[in-house]
Amino acid sequence: MNHLLTTLEIALRSSIDHLENLDKQPVAPTADYTQLRRQLGKPLADQGMAPEQVVSDLARDVEGGIMGSGSGRFFCWVIGGALPSAVAADWLAAAWDQNAGMYATSPAAAIVEEVAGVWLKDILGLPEQASFALVTGCQMAHVTCLAAARHHLLEQRGWNVEERGLSGSPTIRILASDQRHGSVDRAVRLLGLGTANMEYLATDSQGRLSPEALAKALEERPSDPAIVLVQAGEINIGSFDDFPAITEIAQKHGAWVHVDGAFGLWAAASPRYQHLMKGAALCDSWATDGHKWLNVPFDSGYAFVAHTESHRLAMTYRAPYLTHASETRDQMEWNPEWSRRARGFATYAALRELGREGVAALVDRCCQHATAIVAGIGKLPGAEVLWSPTINQGLVRFLDLQNEAPESKDTNSKSHDHFTDEVIAAINKTGEAFFGGTTWRGKRAMRVSVCNWRTTEEDVERTIRAAEQVLATMGNRSEAQHAAKT
Ligand SMILES: *Cc1c(COP(=O)(O)O)cnc(C)c1O
Repeated sequence: MNHLLTTLEIALRSSIDHLENLDKQPVAPTADYTQLRRQLGKPLADQGMAPEQVVSDLARDVEGGIMGSGSGRFFCWVIGGALPSAVAADWLAAAWDQNAGMYATSPAAAIVEEVAGVWLKDILGLPEQASFALVTGCQMAHVTCLAAARHHLLEQRGWNVEERGLSGSPTIRILASDQRHGSVDRAVRLLGLGTANMEYLATDSQGRLSPEALAKALEERPSDPAIVLVQAGEINIGSFDDFPAITEIAQKHGAWVHVDGAFGLWAAASPRYQHLMKGAALCDSWATDGHKWLNVPFDSGYAFVAHTESHRLAMTYRAPYLTHASETRDQMEWNPEWSRRARGFATYAALRELGREGVAALVDRCCQHATAIVAGIGKLPGAEVLWSPTINQGLVRFLDLQNEAPESKDTNSKSHDHFTDEVIAAINKTGEAFFGGTTWRGKRAMRVSVCNWRTTEEDVERTIRAAEQVLATMGNRSEAQHAAKT
């Protein structure tokens, strides 16, 4: 028997079965922790088994524990699905089992990244001469970009950080807003920059960094090295910082401006939304994801750096046994890993499948669907729109109309916070759609995030209907309780 063939066929069938049935399956997982432990928590065997059995057991035992995040009705966090060509290219990356560390270990993988990097800069409106790295996600893109920033700012002050470390070095100030994503804090920690050196600047009503506050902070200590963290697509409402104003101020003080654009950077790909990215190309580094809005499978983030040499010097390492290519690009010169998965294939495939117009259409479609969901659910009894999407992120809150306690007349009341969480849980429980909650300006809200290529108008309608039914049932339940009491 040809084990390889039969094993891969089982995987192929299971994959197709999963993807073809996404519309019929509940979006939320249906099994609980105990059940999944029972299904999957097997003892480590002394003897192995046939690969076919391993794979068919696996496909069976995960039952109920696979999140329907590939579905068109998954709106929680900012996750995104996976395009057909990207899934297939990712399988091939595993089958080819290439080490994408250097050109010498896989010439094709190296070239594909070289090509994809150029395409990405083009589609994201970033400077042509910027260097790049394909990393595991936006988190590691922050680490890569901020390592370049750390090198650059300290090098200018005569301090070689790669050699001497940070003890005794000039302290780098990190100026950010309190709306930043936690992954930048983790990058700051990993790089030894220290979260105690982060300073939180004032923001406006949309969570955008105040250029005045930035100017004031930089003028206080004009010659200290500083990194300014800005956002393209804040996580709750998707707002964009004022890049032209911020870069002008930062440049005056030689500060490095880093953009967290995990999903928002993709606004640049759409003629309709690219005005939001105005001036972003003047920043010093940019971090984004392929596994969110581009709909590449997980393990795909991108780092871009305007100061090529600082980027390379922060990452490079040369050893006598490595074979470095002279005219081609060795990936390990630019990213923090050594041996690595050839993740470039999936990105290359996704960009070819969509083309420039396809990416723009994907972005536009997701934004339209997000707007329609927020408007549709926002019209239901008790629903209150807190943020109608500017791009693909919106917020809806649910007021507990049946609650007769006097304080619940106040829309800020905690009883509505609690009710909002209950409604989200009830919608998720229907299996029809999946949302997450957040706290925005002190109020609990349901966050609507659309970034899946699969989401259709039908999904939007199905989602609104599910919310409508949940609200009707919850309203009746409260009425029933009320009737029972009186
Ligand atoms: C998801 C996200 C991140 C982290 O990206 P990963 O790919 O999960 O590492 C950072 N910033 C923002 C705004 C995000 O949405």
